Formats: sequence, C-alpha cells, structure tokens
Amino acid sequence: MKYKIKYDKSKCIGAASCAKIAPDTWKLDDQGIAVQLKKEFTDEELDKQTKAAKSCPAHAIEIYDEAGKKIV
Ligand code: SF4
Repeated sequence: MKYKIKYDKSKCIGAASCAKIAPDTWKLDDQGIAVQLKKEFTDEELDKQTKAAKSCPAHAIEIYDEAGKKIV
C-alpha cells in the first residue's frame, strides 16, 4: 500500500522531532522550519512515518492511506 504525507508548513514551530525520527523525509531549513523531502511512502516505512507525524507537537503532519483515510 502507498501512503501520502500532507504537511502544513504554516503550522510548523521548528520542534525538529520529525527530522530526528525520519531524516530522509524531513529536514530543517535555515529558519528552523521543516522542509518535506518525500510525499509518498510504502508499508515498510509506515512505522517510522507515523511516529514522525505523531511526534509533531504542532500537528503539522498528516498521513493518508491509498483510500484517502487519515491515519495520523
Ligand atoms: S515536528 Fe512539526 S513542528 Fe517540529 S519541525 Fe517537524 S513539522 Fe515542524
């Protein structure tokens, strides 16, 4: 199954936990705001990606499955 990551940059407060958990998907820019490096992933990354999304204190990261169901 494929999953989509939705990111609302305007909510990001630079907590950096997303980049710590999933550095292949999130990095911080010069202002300390997260930049999304990846928009889709598959099952083997589900654990890591949901952890990263859930770690965001600003709820800036959402994950949806193929059917459009919200997972995080
Ligand atoms: S965890 Fe959330 S608030 Fe922190 S850098 Fe990532 S997107 Fe921004």
